[in-house]
Amino acid sequence: MATAATTSTSERLSSENPATGELVGTVPVQSAAEVDAAVVRARVAAHSWSALSFDARAEELTAFRKAIAAHADELVDLLHRENGKPEREGYVEVMMALGHLQHAVARAEIAMAPRRVSAGMLANFRATISYHPLGVIGVIGPWNYPLFTPMGSIAYALAAGNAVVFKPSELTPLLAVKLAEIAATSFALPDLLQVVTGAGATGAALAKSAVDKISFTGSAATGRRVMMAASERLTPVLLELGGKDPMIVADDADLEKAAEACVYGALTNSGQSCVSVERVYVADSAHDRFVEEVVKHVRALKVGGDDGHLGAMTSAAQVAIVKDHLVDAIARGAKVVTGGPDAISGNYIQPTVLTGVDHTMKVMREETFGPVIPIQRIGSLDEAVKLANDSKYGLGSTVFGGKAARAIAGKVRAGMTSINSVMGFAGIPSLPFGGIGDSGFGRIHGDEGIREFTRIKSTAEQVMSIPLNMMSFDQPKDIAKKLRGMIKQLYGDGVVAKAGDLVRKLRS
Ligand code: NAD
Repeated sequence: MATAATTSTSERLSSENPATGELVGTVPVQSAAEVDAAVVRARVAAHSWSALSFDARAEELTAFRKAIAAHADELVDLLHRENGKPEREGYVEVMMALGHLQHAVARAEIAMAPRRVSAGMLANFRATISYHPLGVIGVIGPWNYPLFTPMGSIAYALAAGNAVVFKPSELTPLLAVKLAEIAATSFALPDLLQVVTGAGATGAALAKSAVDKISFTGSAATGRRVMMAASERLTPVLLELGGKDPMIVADDADLEKAAEACVYGALTNSGQSCVSVERVYVADSAHDRFVEEVVKHVRALKVGGDDGHLGAMTSAAQVAIVKDHLVDAIARGAKVVTGGPDAISGNYIQPTVLTGVDHTMKVMREETFGPVIPIQRIGSLDEAVKLANDSKYGLGSTVFGGKAARAIAGKVRAGMTSINSVMGFAGIPSLPFGGIGDSGFGRIHGDEGIREFTRIKSTAEQVMSIPLNMMSFDQPKDIAKKLRGMIKQLYGDGVVAKAGDLVRKLRS
């Protein structure tokens, strides 16, 4: 956890351990002028980097990956001390970040390969779509997964041939500084991956700077501010925002597996994941047994300590939000099965299971971002889908069930769904990651995540001449008559077969 200094640009930001309050280290609060200077340097790096072949970039990015792996212990130590997460979760985070880096490098050339497409009516043309690096990508990251989350942009942006300027969360800046140090020793080119540190003002400066795209991960409220700041230069933005991910448990689900997955999905990283299970809808006939199973798993967990499953919450502000949601739910009739607001001590929250919840409660509507499992009994799967979709967010989601699970998953309005598992989509690098509604737009991960950091170029090459050249003023006198005939023939009811041919050709 860190606290930002507030007055002058020579000030420093202190990063503190949320479990102990000890100082982990300090970093500078960088000004708008320093951010702009970093972007200028990045542009020089981007120029050389984009001119390299995919193989040459892959070689350097592989060296970067190996260097990160070699520094895994130091990175995990910083994740533990700045963010509060247990070491075991730190190692999972480093592993997932490396998996994405490896994947992005392996896929970049394929994802960016030029594609020949149908030229439609202009059969004398060769039509091609090609993908090119954008230039400099500004990445603004959150504190909950300070390595994995920004790496979802950094790895894919670099692999696509861009340079990156990364502004980490003010709560976890030292981890990012370490990453930049590793990059500086791995890459032959200087300034390919730079880190600028500071609080919101430094992030705002990056959003207003001359970067070619901003990839922002954080809350919806800040995402709106980033989008407004970026609009000054019409800089495109990719927004990975919050979620209120539903889990649906059908009556034919394997309840033991569903409960185990629910507990992990809701409580990993102390519930501070954008794709945490935030609310659970369980079929009436399965409800009581499911709750029993969930409570059994929850009671076996240890909070705090070196071997703890759940660490300290990263900030006191987040603890206050969780407490507010619990108090609100209880006041509106929810039942605390285990945990509860009285089981909060400092930055540690005992995992809490609530039943008897409904959508009048904050805990079912707003992002709680804490170790809370609110479970609602539902009468039918249609009701579950309706409730799951009753949210301004649409990031991840989970469905447990038998025969109907896929059909239910298809009806959930979300960017991602895991069936009979939790968070599976986040661990599969080929799957694009992102949301809809207040969860943002654009995609990281997968080939789509590589192409997010490219500009698309369309090329139409005339490969032979035809008698009727539409792109010329030199046309027959009766051109209007001819065109009228063609419209009827191609698009009217007259010659359906030919129009059908054209549609088939366009689809191919
Ligand atoms: P936040 O919005 O408070 O901060 C995110 C980043 O934005 C930080 O680096 C911060 O310094 C910076 N910032 C603050 N004000 C800014 C401004 N005006 N202009 C530019 N940058 C500014 O978010 P957080 O509390 O760090 O992260 C938690 C949130 O992130 C949760 O809502 C969580 O769901 C979301 N999240 C989403 C994903 C995803 O992939 N969808 C992943 C992780 C976290």
